[in-house]
Amino acid sequence: MKTEFSLAQLANPDIAEADKILRACVHCGFCTATCPTYVLLGDELDSPRGRIYLIKEMLEKDRPPTAEVVKHIDRCLSCLACMTTCPSGVNYMHLVDQARVRIERDYSRPLPERALRAVLAFVLPRPGLFRASMIMARLGRPFAALLPTPKTASATPTLLRRIKAMLALAPGRLPAPGPVGGSVFPAVGERRGRVALLQGCAQQVLAPRINQAAINLLTRHGIEVVLVKDEQCCGALTHHLGRDGDALARARANVTVWQSEAEQGGLDAILVTASGCGTVIKDYGFMLREDREFAGSAARISALAKDITEYLVGIDLHPSSQQGDVTIAYHSACSLQHGQKITHAPKELLSKNGFVVKDVPESHLCCGSAGTYNILQPDIASRLRDRKIANIATVKPDMIAAGNIGCMVQIAGGTSVPVVHTIELLDWATGGPKPELKGPGPTRPALN
Ligand code: SF4
Ligand code: SF4
Repeated sequence: MKTEFSLAQLANPDIAEADKILRACVHCGFCTATCPTYVLLGDELDSPRGRIYLIKEMLEKDRPPTAEVVKHIDRCLSCLACMTTCPSGVNYMHLVDQARVRIERDYSRPLPERALRAVLAFVLPRPGLFRASMIMARLGRPFAALLPTPKTASATPTLLRRIKAMLALAPGRLPAPGPVGGSVFPAVGERRGRVALLQGCAQQVLAPRINQAAINLLTRHGIEVVLVKDEQCCGALTHHLGRDGDALARARANVTVWQSEAEQGGLDAILVTASGCGTVIKDYGFMLREDREFAGSAARISALAKDITEYLVGIDLHPSSQQGDVTIAYHSACSLQHGQKITHAPKELLSKNGFVVKDVPESHLCCGSAGTYNILQPDIASRLRDRKIANIATVKPDMIAAGNIGCMVQIAGGTSVPVVHTIELLDWATGGPKPELKGPGPTRPALN
């Protein structure tokens, strides 16, 4: 794609990066076929190619984004299916990240929307506040039914519709908090490795059992696990809201504490059980590339970050029981399959450890979770969830496995089939307890 940035514009490293990305696009349109919003809405401007044109125009003309541009960028899930499909290697992620920052900086959203986004950006990365808000949301859920439901799904939802979606996502109950930062879990038997485990923010409130399963499995296989003190939210939530000041501050804080842990105690890896977080941590090196103080250490931290399944394929797991009768529908989270290109490891681990693993049709399409997307774009998100659940139902699973808490909550909200994390199944297969089949979903009935 031909671009027309001035030399002065290209002196800005962000614009130079955007120019490189835009020039790689040959506007072939292959990406449109796998873009969830194009598949649902059929509008070229809701496709990757359409959005790339909008972003190009906005950056080249160096003018504030229009309401039309914001509408179509806001509808993008950042699922990155387009990056998997693109034959030219267009880095859409870095382009849309930049567009979101520009929108946040230069576009004045209506006051209620600004307020909602500010609340989400402030509450979600803080587990204490998030826990309190979930308790309040649970109390408010009975009133959600009183809020009006639009007759037809809207791609530009009202504030009330968004509040209703937020209340609907609140879980029926909250588990007790898990272990805190600063805890060290020694290896059982001879120590074969030492890792940090990302504590996460929403996940540690909604489903601390996920990291508990990871700790159990790792220590049982000779890996010492540390929950690093003063670690923060990875910044993914605010990064995707275009609030880069917040996201970069969190990235720097994490790089500092992880680097210090690596120097003092040694770390083979920083393991992540929420793939949405993993994708962003692996991008810290890029995000901080212009920061002289942090560029080198951020790149080293990104290289150390691994999805837990990526790490486990290098370990000889010891299955202690056979679950040959348990059929698992494996939901491939977008951040794992498109963001990190991890497609085989989770399925291979599950099958090797005794589960019958089924691929879900249309597995490349997002479930609609996408960070705060299911709150900010509830109607598109619901349509994607329903489509995902219908596809999952075709393989008649006993359980659904996923590697990202956002997907787990989203899918569990629309099915009675238990949704568990891949690591919970692997822990079970190697001597841990059977996964608790309640939560993190908001409405799922208890099973068994
Ligand atoms: S597939 Fe790649 S090169 Fe083709 S239009 Fe989409 S982003 Fe551009
Ligand atoms: S990130 Fe997903 S929703 Fe956004 S343009 Fe790409 S495929 Fe479409």
